[in-house]
Amino acid sequence: MYPVSLEVKNRHVLVVGGGGVALRKVQGLVEEGAKVTVVAPDVVEPLSEMADRGEVVIERRPYRGEADHGWSLVYAATDDRETNSRVFHDAEEAGIWCNVADDPELCSFHLPARVRRGPLQIAIGSAGEAPFVVRRLRQLLDRRLGPEWGEWLSSAARYRDAVRDLDAPRDRQEALFDRFFRETVDPEGLTARVPTATEERDWLDSPVEHRTPKRERSQKMVKEERAGLVSLIGAGPGCPGLLTVRGRQRLLEADVVVFDRLAAPALPPELDTEVELHPVGKVAGNHPVPQEEINDLLVRLARTGKRVVRLKGGDPYVFGRGGEEAEVLVAEGVPFEVVPGVTSGVAALAWAGVPVTHRREAVRLTLLTAHEAIKSDGPQVRWDLLAQDPHATLVGYMGVSALPQVVENLLEHGMDSTTPAAMVEQGTTSAQRFVLSTLSELPSAIEAAGLEPPALFAIGPTVGHSETLDWVSKLPLAGRRLLVPASRSGLAVRLEAAGAEVVVLPMPATPAARVVMGALPLTGCVVGSSAEVDWLDAERGGPGWGEEFVAWCFGTETAARARERGWLNVRELLVDVDEDELVATIAG
Ligand code: SAH
Repeated sequence: MYPVSLEVKNRHVLVVGGGGVALRKVQGLVEEGAKVTVVAPDVVEPLSEMADRGEVVIERRPYRGEADHGWSLVYAATDDRETNSRVFHDAEEAGIWCNVADDPELCSFHLPARVRRGPLQIAIGSAGEAPFVVRRLRQLLDRRLGPEWGEWLSSAARYRDAVRDLDAPRDRQEALFDRFFRETVDPEGLTARVPTATEERDWLDSPVEHRTPKRERSQKMVKEERAGLVSLIGAGPGCPGLLTVRGRQRLLEADVVVFDRLAAPALPPELDTEVELHPVGKVAGNHPVPQEEINDLLVRLARTGKRVVRLKGGDPYVFGRGGEEAEVLVAEGVPFEVVPGVTSGVAALAWAGVPVTHRREAVRLTLLTAHEAIKSDGPQVRWDLLAQDPHATLVGYMGVSALPQVVENLLEHGMDSTTPAAMVEQGTTSAQRFVLSTLSELPSAIEAAGLEPPALFAIGPTVGHSETLDWVSKLPLAGRRLLVPASRSGLAVRLEAAGAEVVVLPMPATPAARVVMGALPLTGCVVGSSAEVDWLDAERGGPGWGEEFVAWCFGTETAARARERGWLNVRELLVDVDEDELVATIAG
């Protein structure tokens, strides 16, 4: 295979087929200015709309052998292999490049997957042999390369013109190009930056220069460019999918992550082994790191030029002391940013079927730290106002031990004792528990159910909707927390959709993956080969792995290996079990 980029502007291209695949090809071609003719008896709606706008010509009829002349390229994307094959052979005979979707044998050219950042294009191909890795590689690069690369390439193009204008000898030009690349690209972090006009001028005016060794260079760049950014990031309420896109991006770029216990389940397990992890929350009996020490740690880490992520449960500014940390950073002159998170007071309730506002029922939402009710240094809360507003939802964070006092205060100030009231423990996670009651009955209901922190309560008319809107606990795999090897991430998507919390485990496991595994009890794993069993065996018995852990194994051999290794609760699955059956089997 010989890679080229084709200029298709004003070229005539034939696309046989009118479905979704054809549509994507046509869109790509039209974007680049090709003149496209589509031949198909039926076409999808967006294609006819393109034809209405005059962007393509559509001939609504079966293929009649016209691939044999007049085209620069031919595509076939029908669902009939015979037609596809005819198109290919007609084109082949006429010496026209032809591509049949998903049929490498019927292709004289392949389309690479692309990562685009402005004019920068990275093409990935496998000569049609393993398209599945191509897609994953593309996703990987897409995650790793920030948007700045597009602008960087445009600045490189301008710089190239400026260098050309110097009319300098060849090796001087090369040295200038080297300089540009070296000063603007961090090869380890895969980041790039646009140089300032002054910098460019300096380089162009500089006398011939010597080279700095690579290691020193990249470290220097780290210091100059990143001079200690601290990102205060909200990890969301617990479900890993509720971390924001930006939060995840920052985590994947971080050098250090300082995280609270509640944020642990949201750490991406694939975080590089090199990333320093600092747990600062309460872990199994240890006291949490005092706030002053956390502040000092953030400042110290940032000053070493590292990219620091401070990861907090929910939203960093909602009862998370994020404001205090930000103030310290400002006072110390450390640059910072905030990436808000999904707060538990809204999300955990949504998971339990409680909309925190509802037209005509609740038009005000109060987020309260329930601790206020039992604090000794004087009340800051107007219980009278909260008690006498029937069209509002009161959400209490840190509410388990303070609940009885809160309820007493509200009743004392005249709140209706039958107002719906509920508590969610570990909302949005596999360990979620929910108790629905009324204001006056909630404390005893919580005690009977034995709910524990982290939990929050909601009081107000909309709480009752949970009886009809509870959707999560009805999912077949609700409450399951399953390990799935990263090589089977497709399976993870299916299991998640069925309600399971899935930890996609890189092999070998990373330190971040171990933190995630230990954040909540694991109920089992799904493994597909003896090799996966061997890998996982190295992690078995670690934090999060309890007695109840079930190993779901594809095939006799895999199950036998797990038993051989001494795993308890091994269940065998048929090798070719389909995904629905798999879900049903795990659901029991
Ligand atoms: N910044 C966080 C709140 C930190 S205070 C946020 O925005 O969500 C810690 C309290 O938050 C806990 O005591 C509990 O009341 C609540 N909380 C956090 N995560 C929770 C969850 N998954 N389910 C229920 N309550 C949660």
